[in-house]
Amino acid sequence: MAVKQFKTESKRLLDLMANSIYTNTDIFLRELISNASDALDKRHYLSLTDESIPDEKPYIRIGIDKKNRIITIADNGIGMNKEELENNLGTIAKSGSSDFKEALEKGEEVDIIGQFGVGFYSAFMVAKKIEVLTRKPNEEKAYSWVSESEEGYEIKTASKEEAGTLITLTLKDNTKEKKYDKYLDKDEVRSLIKRYSDYIRYPILMNVDVVKPSDKEGHTETVEEEQTVNSMIPLWKKTKKDIKDEDYDNFYQSRYYDYVKPLKTIHYKVEGNTSYTALLFIPGSRPYNYFTNDYKAGLSLYSRGVFIKDEAKELISDHFRFVRGIVDSDDLNLNISREILQQDHQMAALRKSIDKKVRSTLVNMLEKEREDYEKFFDQFGVQLKYGAYDNFGEHKDELIDLLLFKSTYEDKYVTLKEYVSRMKEDQKEIYYAGGESLEAIKKLPQMEKVLDKGYEVLYFTDSVDEFMTTILREYDGKAFKSIQKGELDLDTEEEKNEIREKEETSKDLLEKIKDVLKDDVSEVRLSKRLVSYPVCLVSDENLSFEMERVLKDLNQNGIRASRILEINPDHPIFLALQKAFEDKKDISDYAKVLYDQALLIAGLPIEDPEDFSRRLSDLLLKAMN
Ligand code: ADP
Repeated sequence: MAVKQFKTESKRLLDLMANSIYTNTDIFLRELISNASDALDKRHYLSLTDESIPDEKPYIRIGIDKKNRIITIADNGIGMNKEELENNLGTIAKSGSSDFKEALEKGEEVDIIGQFGVGFYSAFMVAKKIEVLTRKPNEEKAYSWVSESEEGYEIKTASKEEAGTLITLTLKDNTKEKKYDKYLDKDEVRSLIKRYSDYIRYPILMNVDVVKPSDKEGHTETVEEEQTVNSMIPLWKKTKKDIKDEDYDNFYQSRYYDYVKPLKTIHYKVEGNTSYTALLFIPGSRPYNYFTNDYKAGLSLYSRGVFIKDEAKELISDHFRFVRGIVDSDDLNLNISREILQQDHQMAALRKSIDKKVRSTLVNMLEKEREDYEKFFDQFGVQLKYGAYDNFGEHKDELIDLLLFKSTYEDKYVTLKEYVSRMKEDQKEIYYAGGESLEAIKKLPQMEKVLDKGYEVLYFTDSVDEFMTTILREYDGKAFKSIQKGELDLDTEEEKNEIREKEETSKDLLEKIKDVLKDDVSEVRLSKRLVSYPVCLVSDENLSFEMERVLKDLNQNGIRASRILEINPDHPIFLALQKAFEDKKDISDYAKVLYDQALLIAGLPIEDPEDFSRRLSDLLLKAMN
């Protein structure tokens, strides 16, 4: 019988596949096992209504013949007749869909295999010869389909005792890039099955080496024994009442190599438009590489127990990228192949549903398991803040109530809701102060008066905090207000009038100081927020010194917050300064020292430390003489 040609598209694809060194060749095993599983499904299904098809105990069997470089995949499923062989394996079966043809026509070759997966044809990545021996349960004749190249295939009648399909792959010779030998290694093959096909519903049988006692003296011997290598039922498909906490923890810890147990396990099932089961975990510790490119975010995707892909980022929003776990969907339209996920709308629907579940779980933890939630927030809170900030606040409404900040109330975490609920009657804004640490912020000169007046202040210690407020702007109608920026309105009308008068009388002095400091400061004014400190530096409402620092760390060096020098009108220093000015003394040195002092307190570098220390020594000398 003459060799038949593959259809043109198939040929192109086979050509690509046989010669591609870019693709993960391991997937061939998953594809063939998956086909076998489908064939078993079909047989069982037909046996229910068709008496000519007896139902047998289903199996998939993997065989390895090292000597002849052969790996076999056998099943006792539905098998194929001659016509089916021709139709199914002679063309890119169902994969000949328009998407695939289009990609081929566009010449997007490199990625074709990765994107589309290729079912049965993936065997050509690893085999130089493929033989399919197959018989249907209700037919006598068996057929063999053999192909030794992309050129074509041959179909012959054959005999086969047991119904089903036996696929025999003769592996390619090793090349520099690829060692096909690995598919002759029992342990390797077994681990591929574990990895990709563990949850196939039928037993995948394989001869494995087992060590057994060989005599009574404790000697052992290694014998081959057929074992089922897949677990068949995925943990997430079991009913919840049959699963112990320990099972979840073990599953999580062995799968994600985490020595810490998950803080929260979310196992649920959704039925409806997009039916799926998910088993998700919120880790108890932040992976050491979490904030680097090495961290692999995303969930593992399965379709009816068949592994599709790891790290599917499209299944969960970036602000929840700390969540790990798997999603098993019944409805994914994967007819092109198991590797293609072009079905954006399906994925988007899944993501929406998963995001919602994760969010409601966190809300619930916050309300009912505060201690755990705070532990979670210590590890991943910054991620939520970035999430609220990213994309101009696209997700801020979902996230804002999940945020925690430490506050002056008890130096503990508070939510914005809690903050607002105990705001003082006359308080219009949500006060915050930025700095390196709680300790540093507590010592800010600007803190005294706010606290004296009984207001609560949020500590902003993460670099993202203040940037985030530029996006959030307000919570529950209350604007965020930095106590280190702009004007701070803490005074009574009476106090305000008093200040206004003082400003009038010290106008010339303030102008003189501004003159001395020139462009170092944008303004010199009397302070309404100081108690015991003589001076402080504030910025205008736009950029704070904290933000300037963050931008500098990001190499945005040119961006500078404006510097406004505020002087405490009730401080003895100011009164002395006023006196000196009235006595027509030169106050330049005093002004400069006060400014440098304000810089230091604000945590900003002084521009000329030598100048500063010389001036300080002069003043000390004068004072001591
Ligand atoms: P897909 O599985 O996406 O349809 P494949 O190229 O993997 O595409 O397989 C093509 C067809 O060949 C299958 O749809 C099935 O009808 C048939 N087939 C493949 N493997 C087997 C098998 N082990 N037993 C019976 N039929 C099979």
